[in-house]
Amino acid sequence: MSTDPTGTTVTPVTVAGLGLMGSALAAAFTGQGHPTTVWNRTPAKCAPLVEQGATAAGTVADAVTASPVVILCLSDYEAVRGVLEPVREHLAGRVLVNLTSGTPQEARETAAWAAEQGARYLDGAIMAIPQLVGSPDGLFFYAGDAEAFTTHEQTLRVLGGNTLHLGADHGLPSLYDVALLGMMWSALGGYIQAVALVGSEGISAQDFLAFSGQWLDHVVSPMLPDLAREMDERAYGDDTSSLHVNKDAIAHLVETGRAQGVGTDMALPMQALIERRIAQGHGSDGLASLVELLRNPSS
Ligand code: NAP
Repeated sequence: MSTDPTGTTVTPVTVAGLGLMGSALAAAFTGQGHPTTVWNRTPAKCAPLVEQGATAAGTVADAVTASPVVILCLSDYEAVRGVLEPVREHLAGRVLVNLTSGTPQEARETAAWAAEQGARYLDGAIMAIPQLVGSPDGLFFYAGDAEAFTTHEQTLRVLGGNTLHLGADHGLPSLYDVALLGMMWSALGGYIQAVALVGSEGISAQDFLAFSGQWLDHVVSPMLPDLAREMDERAYGDDTSSLHVNKDAIAHLVETGRAQGVGTDMALPMQALIERRIAQGHGSDGLASLVELLRNPSS
């Protein structure tokens, strides 16, 4: 163990994978005084980190044996296994923290493989961009070996102030990750649809920005708690607006888009869901009721 400038003991870490994200992770560790070993398939990417005080490992074996905590941030899980398989004999007793994005299934399989090697394994998901790494708001999900998480929580907190352990199931960080990304794509898809539509009358995205932000903050976000309760209780009120009302409103959007010569691709799947749920006899329910179609895709 070493100490940082304030005299606090800090754990040596290795970061394998120095793409945009891995480089930001390694920089956060060097910035907080952690002895940091870095490795990258293309060695040139180590140079800026070495200038910041990191040590470049020449081989993966050197990298994983340099520190008790080994962080992996590669393009995908296949790359992770490709990097670790040849050094499997060095993994026993180490804490592997895999911050590579993937599916819950990939996370669970990699956890099982790591256990076979005698490694302690945390799977994680980074809900931040590289520029947010190291900030108090940086959100990082982890799951798996709870003892390893507790032991190294302070070290992991260097990467983001909002560092959470979701439980024993290694698949949960990836599940939360893709769920939140799905929300982002749908919300941004709706925003892009809106900009295309108002743009058909020469209104710029920047001119429309004030209304789009306000709409999300004051109308859309405040709806979430009620929708969450209804979806949990599976009891769907129409306090805000029924599916019948939404069916007419989304038809206006599609009709207006066609009349303005603008694609309505983002709205069409939602329109189809609303119409399907009404056809099942649930037109008086609110929008939250659509979750039943996703819970039972064949219904
Ligand atoms: P990136 O800039 O494309 O870097 C990819 C890294 O993976 C590089 O270090 C690359 O090495 C390495 N790599 C790829 N295939 C490899 C292989 N077969 N063997 C060894 N190394 C291999 O990507 P990134 O933005 O750093 O993202 C890394 C991970 O973080 C991804 O899973 C991504 O989804 C996740 N993430 C990224 C962001 C973001 O905003 N960037 C946000 C959240 C999560 P070379 O340099 O040699 O090519």
